[in-house]
Amino acid sequence: MIQDIKPHRLRNEYKHLSAEEGDTCLIYRDGKVLMKILDGEIFFPSFREIHGDVKKGIYGFSIDDRKLFLYMEPVEEREGYTYHNVNELRQALPREMAYAGVLGNHLNIWYQDNVYCGRCTSRLIHDTKERMLYCPECGNQIYPKICPAVIVCVNDGDKVLLTKYAGREYTKYALIAGFTEIGETVEETVSREVMEEVGIRVKNITYYKSQPWGFSGGLLMGFFCEADGDTALSIDTNELSVGEWADIERLKDMDDGVSLTREMMRVTYERWAKRQK
Ligand SMILES: [Zn+2]
Repeated sequence: MIQDIKPHRLRNEYKHLSAEEGDTCLIYRDGKVLMKILDGEIFFPSFREIHGDVKKGIYGFSIDDRKLFLYMEPVEEREGYTYHNVNELRQALPREMAYAGVLGNHLNIWYQDNVYCGRCTSRLIHDTKERMLYCPECGNQIYPKICPAVIVCVNDGDKVLLTKYAGREYTKYALIAGFTEIGETVEETVSREVMEEVGIRVKNITYYKSQPWGFSGGLLMGFFCEADGDTALSIDTNELSVGEWADIERLKDMDDGVSLTREMMRVTYERWAKRQK
């Protein structure tokens, strides 16, 4: 999956570090990231290349020993660096830099959305000990926003429940998905989302794996489950353009090495194929 960058290592613990001219800048504008692509590999600019003010860099994280800073001042395209849709990072190489770009996107949105205190409108200050913003006037503390969400693979014998989202850029087959609401467990999110989107009950809910999803600022949790009782689907057309029982055989070769959804499709196929022997 996109976060699997071994042998490289993400060091995401917060440090109060100052940038130097040669350090890497992550710069975002309207859902796009400033980078260049050379021989099929992506590169993010250094402060030197964009003539950036190192004092304005916000330390984000490191990949191995390479420090990456967010730079939130306006920067024009230059030196071959142009703005690319962050979705291009899904398949970009090298994988550790693609993941850095996605993670930076998540952080960038949080910093961008939290300049002023929501309680008293004073300008927030960056804490130096942890990744937190605080208000000098009223003491409000704001931590990074990570939204829990579930991905649900529903099985019924040789069938799997596939969906397509309504009104989204992503038009390939997906699984049921949705954000956790206040007051519920993630297992309850699973049951509720399946009921809301396709109108069936599920049983034997088992947790699989999770995935940080910096495109939307979510933390995705994958679950497998089985249809319980009546399997006739009643599709919520506001959420889905397609919802159907498909032969599990169709999930062959669906894994793209990027998303938890696709990995769960592969696992479903492998489990099914094993049962056929
Ligand atoms: Zn305040």
